[in-house]
Amino acid sequence: MQRLIVTGGAGFIGANFVRGALDHSDAEVVVFDKLTYAGSLENLADVASHKRYHFVEGDIADREAVRQLLDTHRPTAILNFAAESHVDRSIDGPQDFIDTNIVGTFVLLEAARAYAHALSDEMRRAFRFLHVSTDEVYGSLGQEGYFVETTPYAPNSPYAASKAAADHLVRAWGETYGLPVLITNCSNNYGPFQYPEKLIPLMILNAVEAKNLPIYGDGSNVRDWLYVGDHCAGILRVLEQGRPGEKYNLGGDAERTNVEVVTTLCDLVEAERPATENPHMTSRGLTSYRDLITYVKDRPGHDQRYAIDASKMRGELGWTPQHDFASGLRDTVRWYLANETWCRAVQAGRNARSRIGLGD
Ligand code: NAD
Repeated sequence: MQRLIVTGGAGFIGANFVRGALDHSDAEVVVFDKLTYAGSLENLADVASHKRYHFVEGDIADREAVRQLLDTHRPTAILNFAAESHVDRSIDGPQDFIDTNIVGTFVLLEAARAYAHALSDEMRRAFRFLHVSTDEVYGSLGQEGYFVETTPYAPNSPYAASKAAADHLVRAWGETYGLPVLITNCSNNYGPFQYPEKLIPLMILNAVEAKNLPIYGDGSNVRDWLYVGDHCAGILRVLEQGRPGEKYNLGGDAERTNVEVVTTLCDLVEAERPATENPHMTSRGLTSYRDLITYVKDRPGHDQRYAIDASKMRGELGWTPQHDFASGLRDTVRWYLANETWCRAVQAGRNARSRIGLGD
């Protein structure tokens, strides 16, 4: 029986992963999460009574808590999703990014090393430490080219730098101590349960409330979008079949400028909730969600383009995304419109959608 410890499992991608792992494997899943503003048990409400699911509240940077976690639950694998994940927040306050993303990963690695050391040879060989990372570690692309696994690291934001540092630690614990580590570097995710500070849910929720849709700079920045369920399926594939010591890039082959994403969202919201029938829109005298688009001051150090070459995942592990951007985005819009209670609950008492990260 596999026993997975999923750090950050109450966040956006983690919660989607937990649901997928319970549905598509026989594994026992233990979520370890600090429940920061971005983590919520609301994200896991539907699996709370599942007999293979357990929740432990705690901080990955807390040595004693992590040691106890491993002693108690005896994992066959640790998957590290826990992170501070919002670039704008990292510009205003990088400390939490250093504490969780770098120190937290270090604490987890040390605990995993001690734990694996005490396992039988057979169990140690089967043990895995899978670190979930981002394509932002590679920096920014121009018009041409793609990130491959050997692209040199050149992080530009404090968030990306903290993730890059963590990736280096994970790699080193594999090379130096023989810990069976795996790293995944993924492009931008979208889908259910994403905290509404991020581009896609922010735009959907602002649109239905007839609030402005702020696009940074001229909106020409390109991201390669991947549906969260496809990312999670890829992580499970890497866990089961990936070669220890290797890293794997995941992306959706869906490059879009931010303007394209926002105008598409406007049209999808229109199809679900026509502007002329939305009292928030009519009271502002507006008939098209596109009229809400406003261009605002750019983020400092804003990377121009990310694009992933996922041929290693495809060729070596046979992974391909199942959702195309058009249908994935439509389903995502429908999910946010159908889950107003969740949207209210995770934003309660917070200015989730206010502008931050100007670096002034
Ligand atoms: P998220 O911000 O939605 O969730 C992060 C989770 O980690 C939350 O549940 C939070 O409570 C928890 N957490 C934070 N600090 C913690 C700590 N010290 N100890 C324990 N738990 C802690 O993030 P996400 O978007 O789900 O991202 C998950 C992982 O995937 C991150 O490592 C991120 O860098 C990576 N990633 C994200 C994307 C994306 O598009 N969102 C893309 C590629 C990689």
